Amino acid sequence: LPSRYEDRTRMVPLGSLRAGDTAVVEGTIELAETVYRGRRSLLVRIGDGSGWLTLRFFHFSAAQAQALKRGLRLRCYGEARAGAATLEMIHPEYRVVADTAAAPTDDTLTPVYPATEGLGQRKLRNLAGQALDLLAGKRVALPDWLPPDTLTGAEYPQLADAVRYLHEPPAEADRERLAAGTHPAQRRLAFEELLAQHLSLRQLRLASDRHRAWPLAGGRPLQQRFLAALPFELTAAQQRVADEIGRDLAAPHPMMRLVQGDVGSGKTVVAALAVLAAVAHGAQAAVMAPTELLAEQHFHNFDRWLAPLGINVTWLSGALTAAARRDALAAVADGDAAVIVGTHALFQAEVEFARLALIVIDEQHRFGVHQRLALREKGERDGRHPHQLIMTATPIPRTLAQTAYADLDTSVIDELPPGRVPVATVAMAESRRDQVVENLARALAEGRQAYWVCPLIEESDVLQCQAAEDTAARLTEALPEWRIGLLHGRMKTAERDAVMSAFKRGDVHLLVATTVIEVGVDVPNASLMIIENAERLGLAQLHQLRGRVGRGSAESSCVLLYRGPLSKTARARLTAMRETTDGFEIARRDLALRGPGEMLGTRQTGLLQLKIADIVRDEALLPWVQRAAETMISHYPERIAPLIRRWLGDAGRYGRV
Ligand code: ADP
Ligand code: MG
Repeated sequence: LPSRYEDRTRMVPLGSLRAGDTAVVEGTIELAETVYRGRRSLLVRIGDGSGWLTLRFFHFSAAQAQALKRGLRLRCYGEARAGAATLEMIHPEYRVVADTAAAPTDDTLTPVYPATEGLGQRKLRNLAGQALDLLAGKRVALPDWLPPDTLTGAEYPQLADAVRYLHEPPAEADRERLAAGTHPAQRRLAFEELLAQHLSLRQLRLASDRHRAWPLAGGRPLQQRFLAALPFELTAAQQRVADEIGRDLAAPHPMMRLVQGDVGSGKTVVAALAVLAAVAHGAQAAVMAPTELLAEQHFHNFDRWLAPLGINVTWLSGALTAAARRDALAAVADGDAAVIVGTHALFQAEVEFARLALIVIDEQHRFGVHQRLALREKGERDGRHPHQLIMTATPIPRTLAQTAYADLDTSVIDELPPGRVPVATVAMAESRRDQVVENLARALAEGRQAYWVCPLIEESDVLQCQAAEDTAARLTEALPEWRIGLLHGRMKTAERDAVMSAFKRGDVHLLVATTVIEVGVDVPNASLMIIENAERLGLAQLHQLRGRVGRGSAESSCVLLYRGPLSKTARARLTAMRETTDGFEIARRDLALRGPGEMLGTRQTGLLQLKIADIVRDEALLPWVQRAAETMISHYPERIAPLIRRWLGDAGRYGRV
């Protein structure tokens, strides 16, 4: 579909043209001259009796200048801006018209397509036109697969009409709704796309229910030994979710389960219980984390927990030396490695699992259906598929989850471990930095540990690390009696590891870090966090970062350092952070503040890889989508496959049920 439209349907008299208007105008050349004041430019003044307009060209050929002679009539399209004497258009599109009547204006809005190198607007418009001609001539059909009683109401067009409308909207079309993506023709298509997506996820789900998996019952004794060694009891919520997972795992078809739990709710031990079910069965479990740092931490945790039970935990990262990597791969392939922890490197082609029965995917907020599918296929062996457990701290509203994760069952850990004290949060202007450093010194003197976070200031990893280095240097000077560590994404794994373990041991008192520590990092003794440039971060990210403190029973605090003046949204975000520590509440406010499209990054990162719909903007359609899906399944099953094929292509795996 076009990404936007231009209105070339009406000719605007020069006298009523305003600065900022983009319009079609026509006039007779009254003056054409090449001037050399400042930049060499060609100025062409046209008039139509009601007013004048100057066309200004900085790039032009001699032939072009020659051709623009006094008395010629020009039709131009461009944006008018205020000029020295008259309004101006810079580099407008223009053509000579012999006589106005013979050159009518367009009768539809002009579509502007997302073009690409070598495939420009003219070509795209031409191709779209040819396709519409085929449709009009009934040479191709675009059958409507929606159940008859869906999207009733005269405003919703039939599919073919919607498509034609969006490629050639009439002059009077509501351009505001078109620009917002909420025109009924767009909603008609968005609805159909969401329906196709939803049905395809349901198909996938049916397919996994028919796949076979190792039933992993009988892990109890091992799990009991693990739990007995933990310094705490599971919360009721952890226990309930662990039971839900346990029931899934005991079934002979693959579990597909999403666990949502706020930061610090204790998802890792729940994952460990699932891992033990696989190990008890003599099978392998893979644990995947989004960052090296979090994967390392998981490796250390799992190794610490499971090695005493005689379980081999193996670390597999992209950063291993060639020899270490070879050893790790061999252990994974022959089954010596029972639990394998790593980043995406886990699922590269050369990694062969001996008997993979469970995949745990931690903190992948945007782990879309395509990745889930790829994993499922990767893990298949001897006709068995691995169970999948996906864990996330980013809560999503129910209807969205039911659409984006229609192939998953959901569990929620809705309780924090006992004794947690909400993190006291304050916002402070950058100008009070000295006071913040003083408070920090006092906290360190009390034996507390702290994070100082230097988030993204420029869209550059190098600059971000630089900022962290500078801050660490300044703080080292200001706090000479304390040991200060530095952690950023450009350090070698071994260096990072050394700093992280020193911080865990308490040998490093203050850790200056970039946002590499955003997800998952768990050092319970750290109870103070200072976040610089907090005004630039989104709510979800601030919440994740703050989740690094308040993980023990000590009272924790978080200082949001900001540089004013604050925008309205930034102020609302900082207020939300001060007022609540509840991840679900934060998610709600985040949705309200960020609005359509941004929250899940559905467009950009493809949680669902939608072409037209936006599950946030089109949220109101979602309950209808689910109802239409039920109708399709019970009354029009034969329409499901062609509908899915239309929107998701022939990617055989969607059809293979
Ligand atoms: P998240 O859900 O954010 O991944 P973690 O699994 O990292 O949380 O757990 C956060 C901290 O809480 C860890 O230090 C963990 O050992 C601890 N923890 C987990 N469950 C409990 C519990 N039931 N009681 C007390 N502490 C717990
Ligand atoms: Mg975690």
